[in-house]
Parts: sequence; structure tokens; C-alpha cells
Amino acid sequence: MNRIESGLRRILGDRARFDSSEIEKYMHDASYLQPERPLAVVFPKSTAEVSRVLRFCNGNGIAMTVRGGGTSLTGACIPAKGGIVMSMERLKRILEINTEDQYAVVQSDVVINDLNKRLGRLGYFYPPDPGSSSVASVGGTIATNAGGLRGVMYGSTKRWVLGVEAVMADGTVIETGSRTMKLSRGYDLTSLLVGSEGTLAVITKAILRIEPSHEKTGSIVAYYRSMGPACEMLYSLRRSNLPVVTAEFMDRKSVGYMGGSLGIDVAHSAKYMIFIGILSSTSSLASDMRLASVLVKRSKPISSRATISPEEVAGEYLSRKELHDIMAEEVGSRGLGIIIGYVVVPLSKLALAVRDIERMCALSRLGSAMFGHIGEGNIHLNVFADLGRSRDVAYATRMLRELGRIAIRHGGSVSAEHGIGLEKKQLLKDELAALRSPKELVLMKDIKKAFDPNGILNPGKIFD
Ligand SMILES: Cc1cc2nc3c(=O)[nH]c(=O)nc-3n(C[C@H](O)[C@H](O)[C@H](O)COP(=O)(O)OP(=O)(O)OC[C@H]3O[C@@H](n4cnc5c(N)ncnc54)[C@H](O)[C@@H]3O)c2cc1C
Repeated sequence: MNRIESGLRRILGDRARFDSSEIEKYMHDASYLQPERPLAVVFPKSTAEVSRVLRFCNGNGIAMTVRGGGTSLTGACIPAKGGIVMSMERLKRILEINTEDQYAVVQSDVVINDLNKRLGRLGYFYPPDPGSSSVASVGGTIATNAGGLRGVMYGSTKRWVLGVEAVMADGTVIETGSRTMKLSRGYDLTSLLVGSEGTLAVITKAILRIEPSHEKTGSIVAYYRSMGPACEMLYSLRRSNLPVVTAEFMDRKSVGYMGGSLGIDVAHSAKYMIFIGILSSTSSLASDMRLASVLVKRSKPISSRATISPEEVAGEYLSRKELHDIMAEEVGSRGLGIIIGYVVVPLSKLALAVRDIERMCALSRLGSAMFGHIGEGNIHLNVFADLGRSRDVAYATRMLRELGRIAIRHGGSVSAEHGIGLEKKQLLKDELAALRSPKELVLMKDIKKAFDPNGILNPGKIFD
């Protein structure tokens, strides 16, 4: 037994695993990127154990990558070569739900859907709802500032985190934020940890804001020949102050995957489908839906359909949530994988950005499909490539770089959600160069040094 093995076993006993069969389960995430083999995977059961493992790694210069649900699409939880993976899966308890003060305290690996199931029984919910919510963890969604299908009303995860307990690289435990709705206490370290991708500290607990559940939902599906009128419709919904909770778009190819696999009713002459969700009270849903339907019709879609049937609304929502998986399965059956770019532009530039992306895709030798959280200007471009052919991967990577340039040109960003990980490091540099703000990267590196002077926490992610 070598020094590392005996050191980790002393702390965790048989919850430090060195066997290939176990390690292999923790090497990949949901991205196409090929992993390096770590030395071990460890399963701490408490904050104290997280702290002891980190102190050991820090003292021995061992890289440590913390992992939640492993659904990252950017390689953010792919371990460093020769490092270890810390799986948080034994930290899954919901510790407190306080409906009077509207917060929940949870351990980091509570799965988003599990939290919502518990809250639902009390008439509450936690708003961030990424497409991966059946697997993604509270810790991972905080560390990537996850967005999701309710983002148009509730924003990204950062709005919902009141504070965290986190362990720094040297094993020091810190508690940021508070259980109160407001705080103005110097630098906001909670916000700094949101989106830090496991590079600054390991989050062990979180204090999350929760909301009372709405009584009623309705949805409208509309089909368009071009993006201009669809965007006009979105502006008018925004101006009307209607309680729009979801605004998603799919291009024709994505609609094909949804229709083909899920039996959804699609208009085949359409180029785009827009899915609108309205969240309201029992007394106002009917009038909200009436006004929303008028505004949708005014934009002259090819056709549109509204429903307040809870089963239909839930079915449509779920279909959109499952779109990535359905698409991955279908292209996988053709021996291909998906390489995803997910940019964001101001809503006023959305139609132009989609036009530019489509022009690029029309010239590409690789297939692709687009969808996204359009209410926030978020576009996901899915490029289909043979992941075993380096030429295809390099070609798709060039397309994503061009996608990033299109977003920047229209005043947007190369990363709307999912973080930077291993995959978007060059794009981050491109964006900061375009903004003439390369100093931001220097500041990020300085912050990293302050939290993790020996660089053991998830090295190589966000920047080299
Ligand atoms: C089908 C599908 C749909 C998706 N839809 C969305 C979507 O709608 N919106 C969206 O934003 N993303 C989406 N994603 C991307 C992904 O689910 C999110 O990035 C999610 O937040 C990752 O959570 P996770 O628990 O799986 O984290 P992981 O993948 O395990 O880790 C992600 C990052 O967080 C870090 N991390 C994990 N746990 C901790 C912790 N306890 N402390 C500190 N750092 C930690 C890791 O080191 C890594 O850098 C989707 C992914 C898939 C596969």
C-alpha cells in the first residue's frame, strides 16, 4: 500500500476506493470529453471528513475534483490525471425546511427533484429547474450557477442561495451568508462560490430560498416560420407583465426529435416551436391565459394551441426537459455524439443571432439542432459528430468557437449556463479579449490563489 492509499484509508477506511471498477464510474461526466484516470475515488460522510481529506490532499499536493450528479456538459468534474475524485453522494440529507422564513438547509448532494418532492408536500418549491434535475445535485448546480426551464421568471441558481458551508483547500470550514432574506456584510463570498466549479472550495451544505407553490399552470405551444415574429411575441408577453415562467424554443430538427419520440403534436411546415408556460393563481389563470393567447395570435404564428389541463401542461414541460436525452439517444444510434454550445444574447438580438448561427450551420458538414431557454436569450447549439474521429471533434470545436463569436458580436456571452469547465476555456479568453477586459482572468486567478494556494482544487477548470 502506498503513502496516498494508506493516508486516505486512515481517514475514510473502505470509503476510499482504488479499484478500477469503482474508479471508472467516476471518470466521465455528461460531456464528450475523454477523461484521465484518477488514483482514487473517496466518499466522505460528513463535513469533518471532507475537511480531513482536503487537509491530506493539500499537504501532499494531490489534485482533488469534487463531484455531484456528474451531469456537467463541459468536463467540469472530469478528474485531473493522478488526482482523486471526491463523490459527495453520502451527503444527501435535507436538514431543515422553514416555511415561515422560506428557506431550506440541505447537504450538498441532495438531488434537485428530491428536494422539490419534499417541498411540494408542504406547498413550497425550489425554483431553479435544470433539464438534469432528476440527477443534478444542489452542490453541482450552485457550483455551475445552473439555469433551467423556469429561468425566465426565477433567474439562475445564484438568486436562490442565501449561504453555504464550504471547506477550503487547507481543510478550513467556512460558513458564508445567513438565513435572512437580506445581507450586506462586506464581500459576498456566497456569490463568489456560485459558479466556481469546485475550484475554490467544496460546498458541503447550502441555505436555499424557497417559494410557495403556485396554484395553477397553463401552456401555449406556437409554431413559426421565422424567428422575428416569435421574438415580437416574447417582447409583448414581457411588456404585458404576464406571469411567464417558461419560454423555450426548438428549431425544426429539435421539434422532429420531440415529435418523433414523444408523440407530441407538431406542425411539420413550421421552422420553430415556442413553448410558453404561465404560472398563476386559480382565480387569474383563465384571464392570464386569455391575454397570453391574444398576444401569441397577434404575432401570426402558423398555428398555436393553449391548454390548462395539468396533464397536458406537465407532459409538454417534461418533453422539453427530456429533449437532450432523446436527441442523444437518437444520434447515438447512428454512432454519433453531441457537442453542445450554449450562448446567450440580449433578447433584442436573438433573431439576428439565430440567423447567423443557421448560416454557419448551413455551410457545415456536420449535422446540428438548436433549442434553448429563449425567454432569457439562451441558445443551445447541438453539433452531431463522430467523437472517435479527431477531425470531426476539431471541426465541431471550430463551429462552437464561431458560435461564441456570433454571441459576442451581438452583445452576448459564450456561456449562458453549464460553466466553463475544460471545454470553454478558450471561449472565455475570446470573450474577455473582445470585451477588452483580460484583467478579469488575472483577478480570477488571484482569487483562486487566495482560496487554494497549492492549486489542488479541480485544477485545469475555467483556466489553466
Ligand atoms: C440532460 C441534461 C440537461 C441539462 N440541462 C441544464 C439546464 O437546463 N440548465 C443548466 O444550467 N445546466 C443543465 N445541464 C448541465 C448540468 O446538469 C448542470 O451544470 C448541473 O448544475 C450540474 O450538476 P451536478 O450535480 O451534476 O454537478 P457535477 O456535474 O457533478 O459537477 C459540476 C461542477 O460542479 C462542481 N461541484 C459539484 N459538486 C460540488 C460541491 N459540492 N462543491 C463544489 N463544487 C461542486 C464540480 O467539481 C464541477 O466543476 C444539463 C445537463 C444534462 C446532461
